[in-house]
Amino acid sequence: MPLEGLEDILRVVKRGSLDRNPRLNRRPTCKKRGREAGRFIEYLKASEFEIGSEERIAVVEPGYYWTLTYREERVTPIYIKMKCVACGCEDKITDPVLTLEYLRRIIKCGEPRVIYA
Ligand SMILES: [Zn+2]
Repeated sequence: MPLEGLEDILRVVKRGSLDRNPRLNRRPTCKKRGREAGRFIEYLKASEFEIGSEERIAVVEPGYYWTLTYREERVTPIYIKMKCVACGCEDKITDPVLTLEYLRRIIKCGEPRVIYA
């Protein structure tokens, strides 16, 4: 169940617990004019996103080349619905940090201020 825990993730996001995460503070840029739009975190807070379908990706395990192995990981992309302030164009954007799995992971281990009930 990829969507399991989505509400918990959004609760943490809206509380502002991930506001200082640098990767979530990046701004996507408009393809036409290269103008900056809002930060990823702002789109998440405003619920301006869609959850994509689960994908399998191959991840290289760290190690020496003769032991190189691939591990399969499942990721569920989050697509931000960007609307450019400069030209009004709309786009759907995702990023390695914009997956349910990544958000779950940083919520679990990265934020000491978060209290779990
Ligand atoms: Zn634009």
